[in-house]
Amino acid sequence: RSNAEKFEFQAEVSRLMDIIINSLYSNKDIFLRELISNASDALDKIRFLSLTDKEVLGEGDNSKLEIQIKLDKEKKILSLRDRGIGMTKEDLIKNLGTIAKSGTSAFVEKMQSSGDLNLIGQFGVGFYSVYLVADYVEVISKHNDDKQYLWESKADGAFAISEDTWNEPLGRGTEIRLHLRDEAQEYLEESKLKELVKKYSEFINFPIYIWASKEVDVEVPADEDESSDEEETTDKSSSEEGEDEDAEKSEDEDTEKKPKTKKVKETTNEWELLNDVKAIWLRSPKEVTDEEYTKFYHILAKDFGEEKPLAWSHFTAEGDVEFKAVLFVPPKAPHDLYESYYNSSKANLKLYVRRVFISDEFDELLPKYLSFLKGLVDSDTLPLNVSREMLQAHSSLKTIKKKLIRKALDMIRKIAEEDPDESSGKDEKEVEKSDDDDEKKGQYTKFWNEFGKSIKLGIVEDATNRNRLAKLLRFESTKSDGKLTSLDQYISRMKPGQKDIFYITGTSKEQLEKSPFLERLKKKNYEVIFFTDPVDEYLMQYLMDYEGKQFQNVSKEGLKIGKDSKNKELKDSFKELTKWWKGALASENVDDVKISNRLDNTPCVVVTSKFGWSANMERIMQSQTL
Ligand code: ADP
Ligand code: MG
Repeated sequence: RSNAEKFEFQAEVSRLMDIIINSLYSNKDIFLRELISNASDALDKIRFLSLTDKEVLGEGDNSKLEIQIKLDKEKKILSLRDRGIGMTKEDLIKNLGTIAKSGTSAFVEKMQSSGDLNLIGQFGVGFYSVYLVADYVEVISKHNDDKQYLWESKADGAFAISEDTWNEPLGRGTEIRLHLRDEAQEYLEESKLKELVKKYSEFINFPIYIWASKEVDVEVPADEDESSDEEETTDKSSSEEGEDEDAEKSEDEDTEKKPKTKKVKETTNEWELLNDVKAIWLRSPKEVTDEEYTKFYHILAKDFGEEKPLAWSHFTAEGDVEFKAVLFVPPKAPHDLYESYYNSSKANLKLYVRRVFISDEFDELLPKYLSFLKGLVDSDTLPLNVSREMLQAHSSLKTIKKKLIRKALDMIRKIAEEDPDESSGKDEKEVEKSDDDDEKKGQYTKFWNEFGKSIKLGIVEDATNRNRLAKLLRFESTKSDGKLTSLDQYISRMKPGQKDIFYITGTSKEQLEKSPFLERLKKKNYEVIFFTDPVDEYLMQYLMDYEGKQFQNVSKEGLKIGKDSKNKELKDSFKELTKWWKGALASENVDDVKISNRLDNTPCVVVTSKFGWSANMERIMQSQTL
């Protein structure tokens, strides 16, 4: 086109597109849900703007917040249209090609190793999945602040943008036309698209229509030649003519003559609604099936992996602050969960006010350590026409947050309670066998492996819920037999007269098992917890006690193991030796030399003082692994 401006894709984007085009074995279906998800996001944006300015929606069809799918079998075009916010020329250049999202290169790497495209939406590059099925894509878009533009690309490293003066004016929104590749012709089948919408996009909160063809029986005048029984394809107006014939026919009915009309099949088109737009969170939890929750999770989290969420909680809060919420524990931690943990916004809940989507960048709803959860909150109490600042200051927010944390921790506790692997400490009879035992088996270990670090960070960050979080802790110990165990289980195994909970920190269980610090404790049959994660050092600076029991680091000075009466005697008889030794080591940064009750075979050990860093912490600080 003469008025077209050419642009090159950013290198990272270009690489991504190459991978997509050449990924022969990927599930190609995903492009549709990515397009629908983008349309839905664009509709959310314009609806949000309309809260403060009604004018933005315009009038007539323009104000209908919906998504439309059309198929053109002859031209082999699949098109998807929304009446969302649209894109200005600048948006088109920026969003579709020249600026790579932060996750792009991470995703390219992942793709090269795993070839799994299912997570593309999570990396913010879902749009490019159109090139799984199309070799040429046109994006026509009209934003309220700009003219109508066309973006087009054959994925050959470049795209072009031109002012669109020949297509039908969109009013507002975006139409995406996919010129399907030869091997992707199945996406011209209505049945295929209906199936895909049902499978992946059922819980999108805007109506999705398809321009569906429908066969109807109509009466037409009988031909002289009875043998002609061809099907005809007509548009809707001719089917109405058919109805006129119908009226004529009924007048003739009492005469026994041969009918003057005959039935033929005609094809008409009409918009057919494909999804149920009643928001799932407004339904009663009893009526929502597991499968529906799973589908809803996929959309919400843009996580279309094979696995079900590990748990969910759907509830209504009543009282001063009313809201509905659905929380999910994902089956896997996102790739960047702990990346710049304290410096970036980690919002994962979508905030709605009276069914209207407000924001998914609002990080005041959950504390950082729970940012691995996905979900949404729909509040009736918060004001609708809100700015971020106003929301932040709103008094009900604190209440919402408090309730969400409580529900989230309950949900996590239940994963453990329902996991048959977790009940090993309990009385066999107490544990009821149920059908879904198999499904729940090992779920808590899975949770712990993905998100255990978040629970530990929670203990550090959230003093109010420290005890609840400590209950969720898992670790290995000298008595856990290679399995994970909990503080409650530790306490149930404590020896009579044992007051404290013993632990040791280090880089690996294997290293710790050989530690001389454990000798006496082991011999006396005391259980010692192994803490081997770098974050454990921080954790233990905050976790002082649990259920009235103190924590004791067995590698620190002043370790008391039960009652030891011989101690004083020993101390006195070795006084001369320890005094001499302390003097001898004075230049070696040694604070003191003492008689120890923790050793058995090893003659002496170097320990850290009660208030100093442990040896492990020194190592961590030196390598700065945190
Ligand atoms: P993401 O949706 O995660 O941001 P995508 O690759 O799917 O990533 O889309 C890139 C961007 O292109 C979107 O963030 C949005 O700004 C823009 N975009 C895509 N589709 C539409 C649309 N239908 N209407 C308006 N903007 C869109
Ligand atoms: Mg997207």
